[in-house]
Amino acid sequence: MATTGSHLVDRRAATGLGLFTLRGIAAGKRIIEYTGPIVTAEEVARRRGRYFFEIDERYAVDGSPRTNRARYINHSCRPNAEAFVTGRRVWVWSKEAIEAGAEVTLDYGKAYFDDYIRPKGCQCAGCRPWEGGAAAAKE
Ligand SMILES: [Zn+2]
Repeated sequence: MATTGSHLVDRRAATGLGLFTLRGIAAGKRIIEYTGPIVTAEEVARRRGRYFFEIDERYAVDGSPRTNRARYINHSCRPNAEAFVTGRRVWVWSKEAIEAGAEVTLDYGKAYFDDYIRPKGCQCAGCRPWEGGAAAAKE
């Protein structure tokens, strides 16, 4: 378990490592930046890999360095956070209030889902409500 800022930790989740908050987060708050070197779309096409975050049609953030804690955020079909691009920076914001101890999740989008998640089956709380994930508990 590693600390991020004052209240975010990565720890084992249903789908591998996940990012959890130790403190409640109100809706509409900036949680964490998705950091990494800026790379071109050509480089993304050449290297592939799952940690590229598209900024626009020409550039992406290569979020693979371990210093990028936001890379631990898992996909959810019912996410509690959302990523927005500001200039060439990517920030993750809370979509709703997130309870202390809950996992922070993002919808990774259709392309990522089809490439990396669909083949194994989605493990998010929205897809496994019987296991009582954070998303399921609120519904
Ligand atoms: Zn799902």
